[in-house]
Amino acid sequence: MRRGISFWGDQNHLVDFVFNFNLNDCMRNSLQDKRLAHLSEEEISQLLLEYFETDVPVSDLIEKYELAVTPSKLSSILPPEILPEHCPYCLDEKLVVARGSRTGYSWQTPRAFCPSCGHGKREPCRCGGCKSWRAEQTLLHKERIEAAVQAVQRSWRIDIAPSDVQFEVAVGILGLVRHSVGPDYAGVSPFQTSPVPLGPSETYTKQSVELLYHRGFLEIGLSSDESSLIFSEDLTQVVQYRPTAVSWEFMPANSLEERKQFVFGLEEIVSSGNWPEHWYDDVDHFWIAICVQECLHYFGYLLKQRYLEADRSDERLDQIIRRALKKFCPAQVCNLLWQSARDTVDFMATKGIPDRQAHAVCRGIFDRKVDKFVAEGWELRKSRRDFNCPQSVIASVFFHQFMQSSGDGFDTAPPVTRLE
Ligand SMILES: [Zn+2]
Ligand SMILES: [Zn+2]
Repeated sequence: MRRGISFWGDQNHLVDFVFNFNLNDCMRNSLQDKRLAHLSEEEISQLLLEYFETDVPVSDLIEKYELAVTPSKLSSILPPEILPEHCPYCLDEKLVVARGSRTGYSWQTPRAFCPSCGHGKREPCRCGGCKSWRAEQTLLHKERIEAAVQAVQRSWRIDIAPSDVQFEVAVGILGLVRHSVGPDYAGVSPFQTSPVPLGPSETYTKQSVELLYHRGFLEIGLSSDESSLIFSEDLTQVVQYRPTAVSWEFMPANSLEERKQFVFGLEEIVSSGNWPEHWYDDVDHFWIAICVQECLHYFGYLLKQRYLEADRSDERLDQIIRRALKKFCPAQVCNLLWQSARDTVDFMATKGIPDRQAHAVCRGIFDRKVDKFVAEGWELRKSRRDFNCPQSVIASVFFHQFMQSSGDGFDTAPPVTRLE
């Protein structure tokens, strides 16, 4: 489109142009190229007319109007076209747009902008008006998110005595306190931001957090990052949350003193060794669960290291690991897992087995190794704990604080036989 057409075709527009030009010297100075300063309004209007509406060569126009510019640059010094639209922020100001060239060719479409505040000059717009509009929107958005989170907070007070909590809850709380509860005993930083895992596997961490959430010890925090939550379409409800990514609040309906008292009370029971009776029923199960999860996590790690994927919900693997733990400690089971992963890669390559079967192949090899080692009564070397699979905080709290063991449980067989 030739920019000049609307200007000359619409007489009101012409009036606007001249009117604005005369009225606002400041604007005129800011918009008008100094190479046109020696021309009167009428001369500029005449120049525009001749440039856009006649075929007079550009070089002739430059000479006639004594312009210090090359022919190809003439269009760039022409005053911008004034549009009928007003700037949304400066109500007296109309938007302007740079004129195209006579040929109508331009390598980019010129943007309409406000000469006063610069609105529209670039995308995203960085004018003051747009900046504060965005800030306002962000604030409104944050308020809506907070309101949606607040709506799912239950404000449950914890009145239960430390000795009455389930064993798993007790270990979970002390693990949490060690891992990510702030000095105010209230805010819990998102677990995934810590390099040390809270639980022995991601699955276990989620389960443990869910348990504490359902018992009311944890509440989804207002400072949770938006990406850790899934909202209803209208943003009024939290539909889902990612347990390892939200910011939690620890016992938020209780006072700071009550929170401290609870944690100290729990620690005291643990260190005194004078445990409530019901804890003794659960301790062996807990021990085994930790070992199984550590082995499962290691299995997934070994496959991932080989660019293969583990199936996290495979119950058969869980069963085989339990069977292995009847005879071996986790350090030995991990050795067998490592051997199995090594053999899996070789087996798959030689037999041309697709990657998606890696989990099943590795589980099968591991299964046969467990049988073989048990049947033959072979000595099995203990692996060292892999540097990339550090002991989790919950496991550490269990072995060191609860069991008062000097080791980390890795080279001790769990009490599997005692359960059967
Ligand atoms: Zn403006
Ligand atoms: Zn703007």
